[in-house]
Amino acid sequence: MKLTEIFKKNKYSLSFEVFPPKTDDVYDGVKTATEEIAKLSPAFMSVTYGAGGGTSKYTLDIAKSIREEFGVPSLAHLTCVSSTKETVVERIADFKAAGIKNVMALRGDIPNGVAGTEKALRHYHHAVELVRELRDSDGDFCIGGACYPEVHPESRSQSDDIRYLWEKVEAGCDFLTTQMFFDNNLLYNFLYKIREAGIIVPIIAGIMPITNAKQVERAIKLSGSFMPQRFKMLVDKFGNDAEAMKQAGIAYATDQIIDLFANGVTNVHVYSMNKPDVAAAIQKNLSGIIGKNA
Ligand code: FAD
Repeated sequence: MKLTEIFKKNKYSLSFEVFPPKTDDVYDGVKTATEEIAKLSPAFMSVTYGAGGGTSKYTLDIAKSIREEFGVPSLAHLTCVSSTKETVVERIADFKAAGIKNVMALRGDIPNGVAGTEKALRHYHHAVELVRELRDSDGDFCIGGACYPEVHPESRSQSDDIRYLWEKVEAGCDFLTTQMFFDNNLLYNFLYKIREAGIIVPIIAGIMPITNAKQVERAIKLSGSFMPQRFKMLVDKFGNDAEAMKQAGIAYATDQIIDLFANGVTNVHVYSMNKPDVAAAIQKNLSGIIGKNA
């Protein structure tokens, strides 16, 4: 099912993300975690493509099993990074053959160790080019793109960033998922600005539950996200106690999601990082609000 149909049907949508194994020997563990998350019957599940050094070779395989074996709509990511024209054509054909209806078109993180951007981005330089490839294919895909409430780190200004975002949507993006953020006001400001710029596709708010202190540094490095004082205090107080930090991080993410729903945001994607227990705890905390219709 296309995600745009799910957004129309559901009052609220809560979805989760998994990333493929970095090495073959942990494939079974990732598959088990994926199945556990799928048992929660989320609105959909996304599968990243080569993010954070993970391999992209299992993205299709996992997205396919989410849909076929576990009965949950899936969203497969695809990146410009490390993709040639040939591999993109091949991937698009594979997605179509596997019945994947939803694809997230991304530029990708430039991997460490690759000698410069030019080598990583040989044939495609921006996500908009992948959006066009997907739109011009015969796959009838529902296409997603990324957006940045706190501005993409490489952008000169927010107005530049929003102008390119508008181009990406004009090229065929059906929905946008946000980078993680820890202060909802940043999202509300961003929504106001993009709506004013004429971007009216559904926006999915991306929420990252921080469940251990090490994750904080990595999350900030990757996203450049602002950490509100309230969040810093929580890490300061509970960062050395694994159990306490996990509980506090889940509570903070839950609180963010409730505030989003209360303020008219209807679609939330949780960066659940292959952690079924975290996904389950958040979903349970929201059960009275989202009911079974997540
Ligand atoms: P783009 O849309 O290409 O934008 C990148 C930068 O270029 C921005 O500054 C933008 O303003 C600018 N820009 C855009 N178009 C143009 C243009 N035509 N000319 C000049 N400048 C332009 N990474 C992975 O490797 N794998 C994943 O699976 C993955 N999943 C993600 C999911 C989400 C929801 C998000 C938010 C990010 C994800 N990432 C993933 C990380 C993402 O690849 C990085 O944030 C990357 O730096 C930018 O990707 P993008 O698709 O937003 O790029």
